[in-house]
Amino acid sequence: MQILDGKIVSQAVKDALKIKTEALKNSGKKTPHLAAILIGNNGASETYVASKVKSCEEVGFKSSFIRLPDTVNESDLVAAIEQLNKDEDIDGILVQLPLPKQISEAKIINVINPDKDVDGFHPMSVGKMVQGLPTFIPATPYGILLMLQHYNIETKGKHAVVIGRSNIVGRPMSILLSRNTYPGNCTVTICHSHTQQLKEICLQADIIVAALGIPGFLKAEMVKENAVVIDVGITRVADETKKSGFAIKGDVDFINVAPKSSYITPVPGGVGLMTIAALLINTYNACEQKSL
Ligand code: NAD
Repeated sequence: MQILDGKIVSQAVKDALKIKTEALKNSGKKTPHLAAILIGNNGASETYVASKVKSCEEVGFKSSFIRLPDTVNESDLVAAIEQLNKDEDIDGILVQLPLPKQISEAKIINVINPDKDVDGFHPMSVGKMVQGLPTFIPATPYGILLMLQHYNIETKGKHAVVIGRSNIVGRPMSILLSRNTYPGNCTVTICHSHTQQLKEICLQADIIVAALGIPGFLKAEMVKENAVVIDVGITRVADETKKSGFAIKGDVDFINVAPKSSYITPVPGGVGLMTIAALLINTYNACEQKSL
């Protein structure tokens, strides 16, 4: 069993981006600039946005952080995004999800200029991804592809089972793994909350991507010997032994699944770090596109 180490792979991505960003600057081109909008005081969202902003600094990008109260109305949020759409110095815009109830996620995603849609959630980006055209790929599935690539994991002809069908992880992951390229060329089964005989389906998987948000859901008896196991789940679970009062748990029963797997991602230290690395690549590409 080998650990797929998000720390090592994301650092390699960041090191390469730092050099490329320096080169951009030295050739007189603009510095990549990511704008992040955070609404309300959700602890997990605050942590994600803080990590994204910090990672921008690490690779030499500029970042702007816009905080809005959770009482913000839809039109004020739209106005804030339109401002960023117009701002020529901003290359990438991310609106941290989830949004407060009074705001339509679909509407907000639609307002982001597709050229700045570094999260890859805009219908235009999704459509291009489905057709295999160059576009921004959602950061979490993109990060997983980078991880598979880094460890040279064979995907061609493999049966990949994706658990979860959200627009940000499961669904794009299933599409990307089925593409006629590497990593891809998998036969993909996408599972969700209405899937029957999930255990039997998982037992047929050469690659399992668990993205459902239920800590420890994927048990050893659901996993075939030597499967590749990718754990996307991030759930805060109360833990009095931690200073923060909580521990981060993945969707995989890691202790029991790891010995059966050929490769496995830990939580924390796996897919979460790759998500940020992929977001940085998208932001760099958004900037470079503009600098051409
Ligand atoms: P979501 O709640 O939008 O979707 C969950 C999906 O799981 C749904 O499609 C649902 O049908 C499916 N599901 C729920 N219960 C199921 C069951 N019993 N059996 C089979 N399928 C079931 O969640 P999401 O936004 O896709 O996130 C999933 C998890 O990944 C969460 O823990 C989230 O925090 C985490 N996440 C991590 C990263 C990262 O960078 N590592 C990024 C995004 C999300």
